[in-house]
Amino acid sequence: MCLGSILHAQIPGVTAAPQAPPPAPPSTERPPTRLDMLRGEYGRYRANNDLLSYHLDVRVDPGRKSIAGRNTIRFRMLATDRRIQLDLYANLHVDRILLGSTALEYERDLNTVYVNFPAPLDAGREYTIDFFYSGMPREEGRFGGMAFRTDASGHPWITTACEDEGASIWWPNKDQWRDEPEGMEISVAIPNGLVDVSNGAFVGTTDLGDGFTRWDWRVHYPINAYDVALNIGNYVHFADRLDDLALDYYVTPENLDRAKSQFAQARPMLAIYQKYFGEYPFAKDGYKLVEVPYAGMEHQSAVAYGNRFANGYLERDFTGVGISMKFDFIIIHESAHEWFGNAVSAADMSDMWIHEGWATYMEAIYVEDRFGHDDALKYLSGYKAKVLNREPIITQRGIYRSPSQDMYFKGALFLNTLRSVVNDDARWWALLHDYFQHFKYQNIMTEDVVAFFNAGLGRNLTPIFDQYLRRAAIPTLEVSFDAGAGTMAYRWKADERDFAMPIRIGTAGSGTLLEPTTSWKILRTSLSKRQFTVPTDLYYVNVTAE
Ligand SMILES: [Zn+2]
Repeated sequence: MCLGSILHAQIPGVTAAPQAPPPAPPSTERPPTRLDMLRGEYGRYRANNDLLSYHLDVRVDPGRKSIAGRNTIRFRMLATDRRIQLDLYANLHVDRILLGSTALEYERDLNTVYVNFPAPLDAGREYTIDFFYSGMPREEGRFGGMAFRTDASGHPWITTACEDEGASIWWPNKDQWRDEPEGMEISVAIPNGLVDVSNGAFVGTTDLGDGFTRWDWRVHYPINAYDVALNIGNYVHFADRLDDLALDYYVTPENLDRAKSQFAQARPMLAIYQKYFGEYPFAKDGYKLVEVPYAGMEHQSAVAYGNRFANGYLERDFTGVGISMKFDFIIIHESAHEWFGNAVSAADMSDMWIHEGWATYMEAIYVEDRFGHDDALKYLSGYKAKVLNREPIITQRGIYRSPSQDMYFKGALFLNTLRSVVNDDARWWALLHDYFQHFKYQNIMTEDVVAFFNAGLGRNLTPIFDQYLRRAAIPTLEVSFDAGAGTMAYRWKADERDFAMPIRIGTAGSGTLLEPTTSWKILRTSLSKRQFTVPTDLYYVNVTAE
């Protein structure tokens, strides 16, 4: 996901009151609502089953701004039980829920739907239910939830984007992050003449004979509920290839020429990401860019694009250091999520830095590969101004709410710092490649990431991860010179007692590698306080020297 509102807060001239301070971030420490808990907790009635597949089969009526249809949900019971938890926003109607031909009872609690079975379902067995629903989904949130709009020429333009709101804002599903179906089918009936672009491989269209045509798509991989997307509009299509990978682009007719030139960035970008992390993870589904009336979103294999066919982010220099205007931020950022976010997914929203910190760091990898390491460091340092360091990046699990925006920029700066800790680029790139390969198509927590890096490097990095991700403040290198004695005392000031991170002082070529801990150490040195430098573009730390 990208950060539309934050961009507006930080670019003078965009908002009506350019001198106003940026709005306070949503506090991740306020008490959760019952809604946050119901959505966020992976309780008994979610944990007792494992999703196998969805078939979402809906009809969308642009005139009535309504949706109706069913989700066929196949799952395996992991424990014998007679109830499961699904989700559908309270404003949408549950028409009926069937197990075969048996109508099931259900209870609604806010946006949760508990489905009750007449007899216990057996652990280890597979079951299929049909969940029929209808209603008028709400347009809400930064990217619309489900939005019924019209394009410049007056055609319906209907899009979904619901990472914050949850997919249950427009369709019934097991709306949480831990469990994904292994694949799904998406069937969307829309008025003849319109196009639906959803996730996965295009299967075909069927004229339903009543003025509607059904568009069928098949997703061959696990998919996050919020990634499932409808993009219904007067789209035109053009195609490209990257070796065997199909690249398909859908835009409104008036933007076709601009799209043909702007989307040429996708091929080299995908090639760069493949070079560092391995093959594009959704090859059977292809890669798509789909024009939408909001900034963008990483919908799996069907990336939503609304960046005005121009470089930068909404035509602005996002990092403010002269690098962002060299590429299209939305193409580069949202596509990075195909690797981190979509293929490697966090199992709880609390650990969303696994999506956003990594995708932001991938922007820097893209910059480094295309424009060089100096530009990448400049680009990353440009993100420092956006970091607040007011609350930890990782929040309490089991509560459905977005962590602070630091997960993007501080997350990326932390990974750049980790590279300096590894201090061996060949090893770093091999580790990143293996990390992706090891966890692709899985839903993981930060503990899994830390364990992987600790094992890969054969050292205990846990206090470093904890300081950057589970504490608000970054570490401070404290240095004190004693000119008379010709020595320098140094230590880390950090919340983590066991924080110990090697850091290079002086220039990259002729520096000294220190191994500070949170206890003072003494170094005999001819350096004076005036000559002392720390390459803070390689390490995201504070430094005090006296
Ligand atoms: Zn993102």
